[in-house]
Amino acid sequence: MDYRGVMVDVSRHFFEIDTLEEVIKVCKILNLNYLHLHLTDDQGWRIELDGLPRLTEIASRRSSTIVRGKSSGISVEGYYSREDIKSLVSLAQDNGINIIPEIDIPGHVLALLAAYPDLSCVGNQLSVSESFGIFEEVLCVGNDLVVSKVKEIIRKLVDMFPSEYIHIGCDEVPTKRWKSCPKCQQKMRALNLENEKSLYHYFVKEMTDYVLSLHRIPIIWSDGYHKKLDERVVIQHWNHRKILNEACKKHPVIISDLRHHYFDYPHGFSPVQKVLKSKSFNNYNIIGYEGTLWTEHIDSREKLFKQMLPRLCVLAEVANGYNGQLGDLIPRLKVYQKAFDQEDIPYTSIEDASITGIKAMLESVCFLSRLITFNDLLYVLGLNN
Ligand SMILES: [Zn+2]
Repeated sequence: MDYRGVMVDVSRHFFEIDTLEEVIKVCKILNLNYLHLHLTDDQGWRIELDGLPRLTEIASRRSSTIVRGKSSGISVEGYYSREDIKSLVSLAQDNGINIIPEIDIPGHVLALLAAYPDLSCVGNQLSVSESFGIFEEVLCVGNDLVVSKVKEIIRKLVDMFPSEYIHIGCDEVPTKRWKSCPKCQQKMRALNLENEKSLYHYFVKEMTDYVLSLHRIPIIWSDGYHKKLDERVVIQHWNHRKILNEACKKHPVIISDLRHHYFDYPHGFSPVQKVLKSKSFNNYNIIGYEGTLWTEHIDSREKLFKQMLPRLCVLAEVANGYNGQLGDLIPRLKVYQKAFDQEDIPYTSIEDASITGIKAMLESVCFLSRLITFNDLLYVLGLNN
């Protein structure tokens, strides 16, 4: 397949540049050609951009991490300098790998808003989030100054990354703030938009068109999909089969399915057998697969690789055309293990990554209950209004 990737969320927890260099080694070993960096989210902004010093001074640091109401008391901070990015991009290029940067807009922006509060509808001072979930504070997309600021950020990103693809997120966007914002309401009237959801779609269209105008191809998470998007926009599926069905008719699609390819989820939830079953997506008109490592609950290099491997090996095999059973794949997985041993890269054993039955179920339930609140669950399932 044309697209064989892995995503690392460096926002929820920060990973040193050395760790990303190791991820590039893994990509090389597995014949993957894309490394997607989720650089920004509510819990941290991880890239230095010229002329926007508050991004690194304020948005790159949170004081603590709160899970189930319990505060860790340990700060999480860090960002990649322009020099870091330059050297990482060059290393990736030397290994035939493209680095795709993602800045997530117009939701998941609490860190950005902590640095630049005037980008929100209300304009109040906010903090980089210490907890996880979906937040009502989003960009004020009715404000032209905000839109031009976001375009400036995208332009700077394009200058730093030679990647043909630029990811702009567009997932999980509550529209509550827009309902009571004079600027957002004024924009809806001026554009004759029916409701806040139409405003969301308008913004996604405007931003994806902007990326195209810079001669790059935008990728968005599938939530942002709607019928008016330019057909060159790449849709990254993570949930919602209905959108996947629709999007495949017109757009290039990357598969990162919540049930198969979220490698931060426990092995009990998606064991290697399930990753292998992802070939069922081959029936769709897709350009490839990407394994994702969200890092709400991954706070170390060791855990990152143990969650990633060997599941990413199996996905890489599927993306590289493997169509057989797990048993026949084991010798190949052992070859990969030897390569990881040589590089001192940790991994989970094939046995532990094949967990099933009651133990697997309990592991999944415990993890999911920690990860998601009831309100977020309603949002993800589309039952929130
Ligand atoms: Zn607004």
